[in-house]
Amino acid sequence: MPVYRYTPANIPCKLCGDGFDHQQNAGDPTLVACPKCGQAVSRVLAQPVNTPKLLKPLSISSAKQAGFSVLKRTSNGDFEKQ
Ligand SMILES: [Zn+2]
Repeated sequence: MPVYRYTPANIPCKLCGDGFDHQQNAGDPTLVACPKCGQAVSRVLAQPVNTPKLLKPLSISSAKQAGFSVLKRTSNGDFEKQ
């Protein structure tokens, strides 16, 4: 499960400093408010901590060119080829 970095609108925040890490599934909605202080937060892009393969996302077309099958997760949890 990737960990995303969030930064509050006003830095530093008394409760969460310059931001916090939040673990979430890729399909989960992005947090819009700090769970500690409630102020608006924005997700920092491209910094998943424990999923290095996502550091350099491949486009679907380049993945297909490289011979990979691209699977898409559907809403019911299955994967389908696209
Ligand atoms: Zn905060």
